Amino acid sequence: MFRPIIAASLLAAASPIIAQVHFSPLVDPKVAVLRDEALTGDHYAWDIVEGLTTEVGPRLAGTEAEARAREWAVKRLNAMGFANVRVEPFDMPVWVRGHESAEIIAPFPQPMVIAALGNSGSTGAEGITGDIVAFDSVDALRAAPNELVSGKIVFVDHAMPANQDGSGYGQFGAPRRQGPTVASQKGALAIVIRSIGTDRHRNPHTGVMTFSDGAKPIPAGALSNPDADQLLRILKRGQPVRMKLVLESSNLGTRQSGNVIAEVPGRDPSLTPILVGGHLDSWDQGTGAIDDGAGVAIAAAAAKRIMDAGRPLRTIRIVWFGAEEMGLFGGFDYRAKYGKQPHYALIESDFGADKIWKIDSKLGDARKAEAEAIGKALAPLGIVTGKFDEADGSDIGPMINDGLPGIGLSQDGTRYFDLHHTPDDTLDKIDPAQLRQNVAAWTTVLAVLSGGIEEPKSRKRR
Ligand SMILES: [Zn+2]
Repeated sequence: MFRPIIAASLLAAASPIIAQVHFSPLVDPKVAVLRDEALTGDHYAWDIVEGLTTEVGPRLAGTEAEARAREWAVKRLNAMGFANVRVEPFDMPVWVRGHESAEIIAPFPQPMVIAALGNSGSTGAEGITGDIVAFDSVDALRAAPNELVSGKIVFVDHAMPANQDGSGYGQFGAPRRQGPTVASQKGALAIVIRSIGTDRHRNPHTGVMTFSDGAKPIPAGALSNPDADQLLRILKRGQPVRMKLVLESSNLGTRQSGNVIAEVPGRDPSLTPILVGGHLDSWDQGTGAIDDGAGVAIAAAAAKRIMDAGRPLRTIRIVWFGAEEMGLFGGFDYRAKYGKQPHYALIESDFGADKIWKIDSKLGDARKAEAEAIGKALAPLGIVTGKFDEADGSDIGPMINDGLPGIGLSQDGTRYFDLHHTPDDTLDKIDPAQLRQNVAAWTTVLAVLSGGIEEPKSRKRR
């Protein structure tokens, strides 16, 4: 708990200018103007997410599609006028989906809708057939004797509800994250889970899992929610249920992914930078609009609006992380290269594009007034101020845990897990007005953090 405080006081010592800044209880009128203009007029974010989802489409980590997304990103970020636009490549193991199907063979033959989970083992083209053994949780699976599970297809259920903060994902994601390893260790033939999602549509939700503790990979898939309901009804009839499963996924070995980085150079390069980001990769079934085309768009749009207004005191660094979905590879690569360097704040958008309702921050005790000033400036957008000792984000999460300062802007997640990791994650799910509210909030945060924006006139003199 005290690490961030130490980091913050070191920063304050290294950059005396921070200590001289006094945050008035009133909102700076310049910040308010930037906020309000973004709310009514931003088009940058929509242009980015519309362009990326249309011109690239799905972009699974480490694939040729993700490489095309990086090329697209470099072109777009250069065209928007950012400086130091570059790709920082890294290697990663690449997994891809193949043909996939599920069907009940007995007692009531019928097809089901399934998607392989990321890193699933393959059934081969011919598929596998086995009896279903069902559990209502991973804990129940864990408690089961191996003889009950061995040679069977395990089904794990759960009952994830929708809620505003998306907090159910941590708890109810267990069947996907831990289920496959537990099933494999007990000798299961394969595992199918109820999708980790809150919708009632026939869309399975994919997502990554890893076989840990030496568990050998087995085929692992997610049934759509209506198919999981159907399977339960069939099981309740009390007869043995046989399923045929084809999940032809494959591992392509080590390939390249990369982070795309761009900057708005600050007037004082000795000051620590602000990192704003999202992740460029997406799952392969939709076009990655809410996850996370919207996030990269919001981060870059806000930085662009600051750049349009003039020159910020400190540098704003945009990072479009690669390969988040398969295991935060881009976040860990950035952390390995820059994580030891001080940053003024880390912020990431990776929870869709619905309205932001809360800000949490973890800037350290010495910067409480600054955090409060940001909260005041955001209040007219309907955003409440939450905690001062908490911030999170996917790729930036490990660095915030290391002690780097961060800000978390929470979007309304009520419908996020209806769409998350499904073929339904497409552009039409983004509400342009709510997207602009996101950009307005981010622009406000950057306007305060940037240390003051110098009008373009003085920029020309340089
Ligand atoms: Zn995401």
